[in-house]
Amino acid sequence: MTDPTTTELVDLTPERTYELDRAHVFHSWSAQGALSPMVVTKAEGSHVWDGAGARYLDFTSQLVFTNLGHQHPRLVAAIQEQAAHLCTVAPAFANAARSEAARLIASHTPGDLGKVFFTNGGADANEHAIRMARLHTGRHKVLSTYRSYHGGTQLAVNVTGDWRRHDNDHASTGTVHFFGPYLYRSAFHAETEAQECERALEHLEQTIVMEGSSTIAAIILESIPGTAGIMLPPAGYLAGVRELCDRFGLVMIADEVMAGFGRAGRWFAIDHDEVVPDLLTFAKGVNSGYVPMGGVAISPAIAATFDDRVYPGGLTYSGHPLAAAAAVATIRTMEDDRVVEHAAALGAEVFAPGLAALADEHAWVGEARGTGAFWAVELVADAATREPLDAARVGAVVAACKRRGLLPMANANRIHLVPPLTTTAGQVREAISSLGEALAEASA
Ligand code: PLP
Repeated sequence: MTDPTTTELVDLTPERTYELDRAHVFHSWSAQGALSPMVVTKAEGSHVWDGAGARYLDFTSQLVFTNLGHQHPRLVAAIQEQAAHLCTVAPAFANAARSEAARLIASHTPGDLGKVFFTNGGADANEHAIRMARLHTGRHKVLSTYRSYHGGTQLAVNVTGDWRRHDNDHASTGTVHFFGPYLYRSAFHAETEAQECERALEHLEQTIVMEGSSTIAAIILESIPGTAGIMLPPAGYLAGVRELCDRFGLVMIADEVMAGFGRAGRWFAIDHDEVVPDLLTFAKGVNSGYVPMGGVAISPAIAATFDDRVYPGGLTYSGHPLAAAAAVATIRTMEDDRVVEHAAALGAEVFAPGLAALADEHAWVGEARGTGAFWAVELVADAATREPLDAARVGAVVAACKRRGLLPMANANRIHLVPPLTTTAGQVREAISSLGEALAEASA
């Protein structure tokens, strides 16, 4: 199958594409030697096609960003129109696409977060949020959870809690980690959601006191930790973090890079707890990842810090018109087509019962959890001890899914099911059924 591509790339067969990739492309987070990347030749809605012409249901949304699916006509048209009109303009100028994107974002962020600083992606959004918090408070330390991912740049990866920090960890000054709630593997020996919530907040309070609250600028946390396992915080936890931030004068930064823009069945995951952070970071779903964009939504108090004082930070492509035009089209499409409501219904009516049944049927499913179009299936070798399933057997499940035309996202001992928010109920049922068959095949 040839790739129906642009005139510049018309000679690039899937075979040649693969060859050039292996010769010249250095991939993220990987030992390069063993890689064998799938060549994607075509994509539409919730499907992608590989170099041999096989079709897959894309339950990864790539890296959890194609919230409106692939090749959405309204987004493609918006980018094409913006490109024909004005491809690019420097951040210092005002531009229609950027102004309207900022207005639309601010109209959906919680509370009074009314100003937006645009970045190129999620990591730099978090770096800038931390910088703003430090300048606003005059303090240095930042608290974040162990089970988190905040980005691949140096500060963001040090603030990150998970394994990706370890080889990059030069003990960035002032970065302090704590345990967030995760009842299935409770750090607090809790047995109920309420206990987990209370004990996790008590632990955070002790961490703040022992670190010295007057040295802490901010707490940064994912409203729902994503890559680390899609762990929904117990009701009241985020409100408890807000209360601690208020009590000790800390900036609360909600990282909504993965969970935001409808993924969790709300415009922002933090809306589940009706909490307003001081800074909220976003990327990915803001424009379905069609053109790189991230940003920080800023409270009036923090924005006011920089009314007379220079904000010492910026990026060449801050609020790039092509990315901003894609954001405008994404957000308007989400409003017009009630995409957030659809994601919430998929979670409540299709994922929740479907995965509960899967957990009953398969011994390897330790827990299935999530909301909206944001689900993790945690695989265990032993249901009683909750020992994580090893990489070889998780790999066998993924391979069996692919043979059935399902592309899942594998992460440690978990399968994440994170399709476009526009995926139909029938497609979700099909994916859950394929995963069930794959589990049966791999465990036979
Ligand atoms: N924060 C969270 C919660 C993420 O999931 C990610 C990426 O997956 C990032 C930050 C980093 O975003 P980016 O890769 O766009 O820099």
